[in-house]
Amino acid sequence: MAHVARPDFPRTIVEFHALFPDEESCARYLAQSRWPDGFSCPNCGCIEAYALPKRRLWQCKGCGRQTSPTAGTVLHRTRVPLQLWFHAAYLVSTMTPGLSAVQLQRQLGVGTYETAWTMLHRLRRAMLRPRRDRIGGPVEVDECFIGGSRSGKRGRGAAGKVLVVGAVEVRGEGSGRIRLGIIPAATQAALTTFIRGNVADGARVFTDGLASYAPLASLGYDHRTVIEDEKRNHRNILPRIHRVFSNLKTWIKGTHHGVGAKNLEVYLREFEFRFNRRRTPMAAFQSLLGLTSQHEPQPVRRRWARTVRS
Ligand SMILES: [Zn+2]
Repeated sequence: MAHVARPDFPRTIVEFHALFPDEESCARYLAQSRWPDGFSCPNCGCIEAYALPKRRLWQCKGCGRQTSPTAGTVLHRTRVPLQLWFHAAYLVSTMTPGLSAVQLQRQLGVGTYETAWTMLHRLRRAMLRPRRDRIGGPVEVDECFIGGSRSGKRGRGAAGKVLVVGAVEVRGEGSGRIRLGIIPAATQAALTTFIRGNVADGARVFTDGLASYAPLASLGYDHRTVIEDEKRNHRNILPRIHRVFSNLKTWIKGTHHGVGAKNLEVYLREFEFRFNRRRTPMAAFQSLLGLTSQHEPQPVRRRWARTVRS
């Protein structure tokens, strides 16, 4: 197999069908994604192989060893045609706020609800794989309550609510990647543990004046406190993280009609996945199918001369 660049990601459903009209085109795409530099036999290193598309296998021309490009992906050992999996992953990755098993069944025309549910479940589980890297500065960090009848800032009646802490990369006027976590309370220990686990060492970190953030400087972060004043309400002082929280609340309300604390962790991971790949549907599609390492796309670094001032 000669070296072939990864194909462009389809922008529309029409382009999608043109790119993946049959099982063979899907199998070819799989192989190109798994072996972007061309096939190489894990047994003998030979770079030539016969495709056995019906069995989703490649057979080495040198030693005859059969290799599966679906090993370790959601596509492995399923009877569902590749084309349906591709279509499902396309829908799940491009349709914010996501879709239900009933919608998927209807869209794919698959016979049973159970099949659609299983596919959807496996694709969504792919969003929950643990991340390895930390986001880079500068970042904004804040907390908010999710759930219950009202959401709001810390300190208010927290019955039935879950405290979520979030960090977002400041990128010019916009936002880069995010990290979200659930914490029991806005304590020093909880907040610094979250930040150390999710934000690169030494990064500039903007927070409000909550005392629990005070140790950040001694932990090596370039901590900047943004003070709320009477002219500016709280919403305006850390605009990016507040926008993230507001989108998160809208998404949870609209898609999941509110969630209990038990499921919130799963929804936070899905929201993170979608948010961090919102400009790179190709990366989302491939991650869902398990075709890439789990590294998130790095946002393009822009000059950010005009940024939040503390
Ligand atoms: Zn071989």
